[in-house]
Amino acid sequence: MEFWRAHMPKGMFLRSACDWHLDPQNVHTIEAYLQSRGQTPKDVEPLSLDFYLTYVDWFQQQKNIESLPVYIKQLDRENDHFAATTVNGDVINAKHVVLAPGFRHFAHIPADLKAKLPAGSFQHTCEYVDFTDATNKRYLIVGGRQSAFEWAALLLEAGAAAVHLSHRHDSPAFAVADWSWVKPMVDNMVDDPSWFRRLSQKEKDDISYHMWSEGRLKIEPWLESRLQSERVKVWPQTEIVSCIENESGEFEVKLTNGEAITVDKIILATGYKVDIARLPVLSAGNLLEQIETRNGFPVLNDHFETSVRGFFITSMPAMQDFGPFFGFTNSVRTSARLIIARLCSESARRHPS
Ligand SMILES: Cc1cc2nc3c(=O)[nH]c(=O)nc-3n(C[C@H](O)[C@H](O)[C@H](O)COP(=O)(O)OP(=O)(O)OC[C@H]3O[C@@H](n4cnc5c(N)ncnc54)[C@H](O)[C@@H]3O)c2cc1C
Repeated sequence: MEFWRAHMPKGMFLRSACDWHLDPQNVHTIEAYLQSRGQTPKDVEPLSLDFYLTYVDWFQQQKNIESLPVYIKQLDRENDHFAATTVNGDVINAKHVVLAPGFRHFAHIPADLKAKLPAGSFQHTCEYVDFTDATNKRYLIVGGRQSAFEWAALLLEAGAAAVHLSHRHDSPAFAVADWSWVKPMVDNMVDDPSWFRRLSQKEKDDISYHMWSEGRLKIEPWLESRLQSERVKVWPQTEIVSCIENESGEFEVKLTNGEAITVDKIILATGYKVDIARLPVLSAGNLLEQIETRNGFPVLNDHFETSVRGFFITSMPAMQDFGPFFGFTNSVRTSARLIIARLCSESARRHPS
């Protein structure tokens, strides 16, 4: 959960609700956690990041999950096992490895946008989450989806003097997103893991578009009143034409609608894009060249196993083979069950009773 703790801002709210819990056994759900506190979903929705992290801590305690707080620097395949070298130089040998790398290394900055900005003038949203220095600062946020508008609200509340939002498309509507159709789809994949990959390209595209449009064409309504301020200027259907840093260290930005704005900071709310070659743990070792990939995603079997036997990858990199829902917490129950099923069947094969 490091991404949630270190790369999401304090005061953020989740888009998902209490039904997207973490327990494949449906015991230690968010609702069970609320019951233990004498609360109901109504008391806590929309879920704050702080609340969600207390649920995760509780979940970890209930399940007796102990974690080793160390980064793996490099992962290699050696004969019949894997060797994970930690940043401390220790080596952990394992028969199986599951990689759940999350979002961090997939932060996406479009090349054409980067080319227009002076080096060092911008930060991706996941790198700019501490707003203690925001007072009286002027911001340009490039992007126009939930993150762009939520960062804008949080910056206003932190005392920003001005927040400009520039995006290439129309501004999304403040409307309640409907995710109710996602959970049954993902839950059913426990019994039919190849369901998504068997669909025609058109069917896959329709589902991806449905997911995309709920998430991207709508902004959570609880943001609307927080953005009612003269300090916010929204510039839909615009792109940056040029950006120069003046002698005072301010950024003078011209937009395609002719608007010229001066800001102190530029934040890129430009999302995430999977390319597993960007994962340092893989690029440092010998696994990357052995894993079959397609469009930057690993090719996975029904149990999230890559073309390297015993090596599993889940979360965002599983989206191509399992569907766009796999970038969200909701899918962990399904991926956990499918990976464990594969490990148990191998164990039974090796140790027949
Ligand atoms: C702005 C934003 C809002 C979101 N809102 C929601 C939401 O409302 N609901 C929802 O369900 N999902 C939401 N998501 C998606 C959510 O962040 C992901 O579903 C979730 O983080 C995936 O969890 P994860 O554990 O796979 O990855 P992460 O939370 O990214 O965790 C990755 C973990 O891997 C560890 N790690 C990485 N590299 C190494 C290494 N080399 N060695 C050791 N450890 C390593 C990290 O330390 C970290 O603990 C949101 C994402 C973003 C960006």
